[in-house]
Amino acid sequence: MIYFVGAGPGDVDLITIKGRKLLEEADIIIYAGSLVSDEHLKFAKSDCKFYNSASMTLDEVIEIMKENPDKKIVRLHTGDPSIYGAIREQMDELDKLNRPFEVVPGVSSFTAAAASIKKEFTLPNVSQTVILTRMAGRTPVPEGEDILSLAKHKASMAIFLSVKNIEKLTKELIEGYGSDEVPVAVVYKASWEDEDIIYGTLKDIAKKVKEKGIYKTAQILVGGFIEGDYEKSKLYDPKFSHEYRQKRK
Ligand code: SAH
Repeated sequence: MIYFVGAGPGDVDLITIKGRKLLEEADIIIYAGSLVSDEHLKFAKSDCKFYNSASMTLDEVIEIMKENPDKKIVRLHTGDPSIYGAIREQMDELDKLNRPFEVVPGVSSFTAAAASIKKEFTLPNVSQTVILTRMAGRTPVPEGEDILSLAKHKASMAIFLSVKNIEKLTKELIEGYGSDEVPVAVVYKASWEDEDIIYGTLKDIAKKVKEKGIYKTAQILVGGFIEGDYEKSKLYDPKFSHEYRQKRK
């Protein structure tokens, strides 16, 4: 059986219990070495075989799966595998080969980054929507999904894979949001020991990030949810009743 497992954002204890158990039982672990902590491999059996997919092609990964039909294989992806994990193409190949597989979700770096800055993406009157996206780089984005268009929604945003181009990114965000005063938090290596957080606004964040020399492994969080006023939620409002609680005087 093959298991696609989300390793979480960095901290080894941010994998699910199910994911950790699978690591302990695996005969083979194929891990995305560029972002998955080596620490995860310490939980494996002593005779477990490891492959670092960072230097492999899709065909090479599939080949290992193909050659080992009777083994328990864990394909370990960073964060949650459904987000920029490139797992669809692997799953489709396995379907063609009639090989069964399961997917075990993980803590994505966008939620880990929100935890690091201790904020909530969805404040009642600020934004009830989170946009997860990336800027077009070497990989383009489909029409209508450019940063400028997305920013016009003024939703909370978590931008992946884009810190290298933060100058161009902030220019487009300023145009979209129609303001350069929107709060931004750049979270470098959320949940890792060398995590770093840089706060600013669309106006000054690019300069601050450049000064720190950060060019990869960062979440760029943007929106009024990071700073400023908000209304309290109805959920815990004493004047508001719902299925589990009566209105109080
Ligand atoms: N599946 C992963 C994302 C893989 S794409 C997830 O769910 O998080 C890789 C990008 O994710 C990086 O360029 C960076 O933008 C972001 N990323 C991954 N781990 C991170 C971390 N610990 N802190 C901040 N950003 C991270």
